[in-house]
Amino acid sequence: MATLTLESLRKEFDGGQIVAVDDLSLEVADGEFVTVVGPSGCGKSTTLRMVAGLERPTAGRISIGDEDVTDVHARDRDVAMVFQNYALYPHKTVEQNMAFGLRMSTDLSKDERRRRVRETAEMMDIEELLDQQPAELSGGQKQRVALGRAIVREPDVFLFDEPLSNLDAKLRTTMRTEIQRLQNELDITAVYVTHDQEEAMTMGDRIVILNDGELQQSGAPKSVYRNPRNRFVGGFVGSPSMNFLAVGVFTDAGRTTLVDEAGTFEYDVTDQRLLDALQGHDEVTVGIRPESVTVVDAGTSGAIPATVEVVEPVGADNYLHLDIGDDFIARVDAAVEPEPGEEVLVDVPSSAIHLFDAETGESLL
Ligand code: ATP
Repeated sequence: MATLTLESLRKEFDGGQIVAVDDLSLEVADGEFVTVVGPSGCGKSTTLRMVAGLERPTAGRISIGDEDVTDVHARDRDVAMVFQNYALYPHKTVEQNMAFGLRMSTDLSKDERRRRVRETAEMMDIEELLDQQPAELSGGQKQRVALGRAIVREPDVFLFDEPLSNLDAKLRTTMRTEIQRLQNELDITAVYVTHDQEEAMTMGDRIVILNDGELQQSGAPKSVYRNPRNRFVGGFVGSPSMNFLAVGVFTDAGRTTLVDEAGTFEYDVTDQRLLDALQGHDEVTVGIRPESVTVVDAGTSGAIPATVEVVEPVGADNYLHLDIGDDFIARVDAAVEPEPGEEVLVDVPSSAIHLFDAETGESLL
C-alpha cells in the first residue's frame, strides 16, 4: 500500500471549453479510505480516471508513494479499479477473470497464482463460483468477483467508480458492509467515487466533496456534517437536505433577530457564537438541518410558529413539510403526527443553526 498524492490536478476537454477538474489537490494516506462525492458532472470519474492513467491531466501531478506517475502508462501503475459495470471478461471463468490481473502484472508461478486466487475467493465467499462464467452470476456475485480480481493483485491503490450503483438497495447495503470489512482487514488505500452522499458518509474515513470540478471540502464525515464550509456542502450532505432561509439581521435595543422576507421565520439570537458571526451582516442565509427541528409545546419561549402542509411518514420518522420559507422540512419521530393544516410550534437549538454569507455562500461560523 502507499500514499496517493494529487497536486493541482486539472483536466480540460474540448480545447478548454470544459474544465472537468480544476486545481484539485488531495493526499490519501497509506491505508486511508477516501470517498469522493458530488453531483453528476462534478468531475468525480475524470479524477479517478486520471489516477488510473486512463485520462491524461492537462496540468498537475499524481504520485503514488514517492513515484511521480503522471506520465506512467495505466498498465504500469500499481492501481486496481472496480467499475460500476463490473468489466469482467465474458468468456473467461471467474477463476480466469481473477487470475488475469495477476498474470499481467506479476511473474508468479502458476501454482502461486492459483493459491492466491483461491485464498481471495474464500475471503470474498465466492469459491463455489470459480468455474462459472460471468453470464451465470447475479449482479452482486459479479461485483464480488470484480472486487476479488482487484484484491488478488494487492495493488498500491484501489479505485472504486460507483461500484454499487447497479445493485438493488438491499444488496447495496450488504456490499457496503462487505467493502468496509475488507477495508478493515486489508487496510487498503482507496478512493471511492459515488454520487450517493449517504454511501460516502458511511464508508469513508474521509469524505471529499466536489462541485463543478472544484474541491469544496474534505474531512471526517462527522466533521463535514457538523461544520459545512459553505452552503453547497451544507445542502449536499445529510438527508433530507438542510433547509435554507434568506433572512435579514435586525438589531434593536440590544436584541438581534433574524427574520425572513415573508415574516414566517423569526428567530431571536442569544448565542454569542452566532452574534459574533453576524457582525457586519445585514442579510445572511440560515441553514437548519431537518433533524435539528423539534415540535414543542405551546408557550415554549422563542419557538417558531408554523403550519403543517404535508406529513410524510418514512418508517421511524415523519417528515413534516412546514410553511416556513420555500419548503421547510422537519424530521421528527413518527410518534409526532400533526394533521395537515395544523398550527405547530417548532424549536431549533442555537448550536444547530448554520449561517452562510448571503452572496458567497461561505459559512460564517
Ligand atoms: P457522473 O456522476 O454523472 O458520472 P462525474 O462527476 O463523474 O459525473 P465526469 O464524468 O468526471 O463527472 O465529468 C465532468 C465533466 O467533464 C462533465 O461536464 C462531462 O460532461 C465532462 N467530460 C467528461 N469526459 C469527457 C470527454 N471525454 N469529453 C468531453 N467532456 C467530458
